[in-house]
Amino acid sequence: MSHSFSHVDRDALLQGLAASAEDFCSRFPLEDFRKGDYKQYPVVTLLTCSDSRMPANIFGPIFNRIFSVENIGNQFRSSEGSVLYGLLHLHTPVMIVAGHTDCGAIKGAISNFVDEPLSIRNELSLVKDSLDTARTLYGLKETDEPDLIFTRLAEVNVDMQINYLLANPAVSRLVEDKELLLLGAMVDLHNHYQEGFGRTFTINVNGERDTGIIGSHAQLGRLAQKTKRLTR
Ligand SMILES: [Zn+2]
Repeated sequence: MSHSFSHVDRDALLQGLAASAEDFCSRFPLEDFRKGDYKQYPVVTLLTCSDSRMPANIFGPIFNRIFSVENIGNQFRSSEGSVLYGLLHLHTPVMIVAGHTDCGAIKGAISNFVDEPLSIRNELSLVKDSLDTARTLYGLKETDEPDLIFTRLAEVNVDMQINYLLANPAVSRLVEDKELLLLGAMVDLHNHYQEGFGRTFTINVNGERDTGIIGSHAQLGRLAQKTKRLTR
């Protein structure tokens, strides 16, 4: 599960980090920030994988817009408090759970992780439990397409996180009252969906997994057009 790049020049890296921090300062949107009394007004709570290929800016600018929660395998239960803070206290009208192809957490969770430190085991156990439940719930047959098994598991893993969200009475009430829209997305980093690298597909809306129904969801607009699943 681990790898390293021995050729990284750390001095250059640190200089780059300093330059990036200065760049953030020089572009700081002070006027807008002042108008909002220096408070935060996010419009999206985003739960995504910590994987560096899954930057929160997939869905546009982050600053004062995206309340971002990241952990390995984009698990609701690993960061339940943070996610609920975004929904119940910051009242974002949209929540996105985003998974991705080649997810190391998915691979790790179905491997033997007994030798990992306790904290990693704890988080991987939650991923594993999500996958075990999803397999039963959605009747996933792993032998069908072995090349795509991890992507298929990542897909149903996103479905499970939406299920866990909906199992929370306060969250489901917001959804019923149409104050909150729950979106599940898969980011195809590897062209597994065969429509090009880096495409994002809407795979779940408020627990609905049927792409035909998602595709005719009037409110979703272009997000509805970009619906595709590998699993049923
Ligand atoms: Zn991942």
